[in-house]
Amino acid sequence: NGYVGFANLPNQVHRKSVKKGFEFTLMVAGESGLGKSTLIDSLFLTDLYPDRVVPSAEDRVKRTVQLDANTVEIEERGVKLRLTVVDTPGFGDAIDNSDSFQQIIKYIDQQFDRYLKDESGLNRKNIIDNRVHCCFYFISPYGHGLKPLDIDFMKKLSNKVNIVPVIAKSDCLTITEIKKHKTRIMEELTSAGIRIYQLPEVDSDEDEEYKLQVANLKHSIPFAVCGANAMVEVAGKKVRGRQYPWGVVEVENPEHCDFVKLRSMLITHMQDLQEVTHDIHYENFRSERLAKGGGKETAKEKTSGGAAGGGEQTDKLLAEKDEELRRMQEMMAKLQEQIKQQSSTNLSAYN
Ligand code: GDP
Repeated sequence: NGYVGFANLPNQVHRKSVKKGFEFTLMVAGESGLGKSTLIDSLFLTDLYPDRVVPSAEDRVKRTVQLDANTVEIEERGVKLRLTVVDTPGFGDAIDNSDSFQQIIKYIDQQFDRYLKDESGLNRKNIIDNRVHCCFYFISPYGHGLKPLDIDFMKKLSNKVNIVPVIAKSDCLTITEIKKHKTRIMEELTSAGIRIYQLPEVDSDEDEEYKLQVANLKHSIPFAVCGANAMVEVAGKKVRGRQYPWGVVEVENPEHCDFVKLRSMLITHMQDLQEVTHDIHYENFRSERLAKGGGKETAKEKTSGGAAGGGEQTDKLLAEKDEELRRMQEMMAKLQEQIKQQSSTNLSAYN
């Protein structure tokens, strides 16, 4: 099959973006071993991590989180999607996880920062958008609801990125257990004041089927998913699934898990996820930056090394240059406008 479904995106978006293709960055976070890489491979039907080395237990405890960004270009019915998946492989392995947080948050900020700089540069039309548009946060199926680590981390993340919580390896749970786990997680998210991604309200003039589909998606959050790399045969058909002695868990069977729902949420709301990223998360970042005095160095950047003491200076210079460029652009736009006006008055005088 190999069909993901984003070829339907042009129905929702501008034709210009269709020609250019879509850019989307998805981050997966959560403890290691919860099946993040497997799920991503199942979602986009590509093996993103063929040479993956699984670190030994000793390595994992020592290792700080190592971010891994992979970009794949998928084309479906002539529509291109440039998808970047940011995996956070070792998260939660170490005893002190504060560094894992920092690394992930720093990554998100860096992408905002890059966008901010590009936006004030001359080549504004061709900016590559690497901002993280969505983060699937993997929750363990084994615990009783959320762990303190999940709460801490999601709190920090929720102002920066659209969080979509998922219950990992849902094939380990019975239907009743999934229901309970979901209710509990939602309660804990609310009482911790964590804002997750909200599916937008459906317009009242939308067709009933779409309304029902969105209501169904809303009701299913956190999505209980499972992933598999293997194809198995069920009733003469090859399906992606997990073979157990007692039967097969079919990843794409809605009766077995919420995988299809998660995928359709991502595909049908890709544009909204991008808009919320731009209008809310990026805008927050930008105004914070401005409040801090333009390109002033953040505490996170200070720790990332660079010329000692020179970082602040460089950033200040960069911000000044960006501002100068912006002014020049404005002037050029004004000049162009004047020329246009002049030529049109000349033309009318001539006629
Ligand atoms: P990551 O560290 O979160 O990226 O996890 P991996 O994708 O590497 O998976 C860790 C282990 O869990 C592997 O042995 C997978 O085969 C297994 N696994 C992945 N997805 C599932 C699932 O949905 N259910 C079950 N039971 N096991 C899974």
